[in-house]
Amino acid sequence: MKRQRIVAGNWKMNLDFNEGRDLAIGIIRSIGSSDVLTILCPPFIHLHYISVLTNGIANIEVGAQNCHSARNGAFTGEVSAAMIKSTGASYVILGHSERREFFDEDDALLAEKVNIALASGLHPIFCCGEKLEVREAGTHEHLVRTQLENGLFHLDSDVFAKIVIAYEPVWAIGTGKTASPAQAQEMHKFIRSLIAERYGQEIADSTAILYGGSCKPDNAAEIFSQPDVDGGLIGGASLKAADFVAIVDSFPQS
Ligand code: PEP
Repeated sequence: MKRQRIVAGNWKMNLDFNEGRDLAIGIIRSIGSSDVLTILCPPFIHLHYISVLTNGIANIEVGAQNCHSARNGAFTGEVSAAMIKSTGASYVILGHSERREFFDEDDALLAEKVNIALASGLHPIFCCGEKLEVREAGTHEHLVRTQLENGLFHLDSDVFAKIVIAYEPVWAIGTGKTASPAQAQEMHKFIRSLIAERYGQEIADSTAILYGGSCKPDNAAEIFSQPDVDGGLIGGASLKAADFVAIVDSFPQS
């Protein structure tokens, strides 16, 4: 089964309007036509402009980094999934460790966000992953299982097919410490086995599981060559067009 290979760039809270436009143009200009799907996930202010820029380019999509769990209402300062969809974006990152840590997002809230995102026509890129102390205690598989069971596995199989999963060990995010290719493969294989247990082997084999955590042009090829790693969610290195495009070009030839 050939899975979709994906590289998503999480710009986090970086780049003003002009800087974001220039980065998007730089990426669009240098990205070749390949079967890798590139997803640009800028702050909200860029979504519509970059969606217009990428409109009609087959292998580039746009995503947000968060959405509110409610359809609409008195939530000053928040942005709904339907609003994101109306900009032309088609993905949304949910459950990033920075949202879990700094905004107290728990699995129950994330399950609601997943539901509203799907109902609004967005594909969630659902993040899971353990902190360093959990890995050191050897309970990382248990934690990731809990995150997936509570945040995602309530979905029926027809909607689960719209999900992208990102395994992001928290100890590797923005730290320069990457999970070894073997550690990434081990967890990705485990995640795929959980999906198979819940939804069957066919859906497990077609679900894209991305690795995130200090992925750079010089380590992407080795990580992406692992059989259960279908691409990456890229933070810091997504802010430079040349680095990001080099990561997109890091897949083994198929
Ligand atoms: C991220 O924020 O999703 C991420 C993986 O960051 P970095 O690549 O900077 O570690």
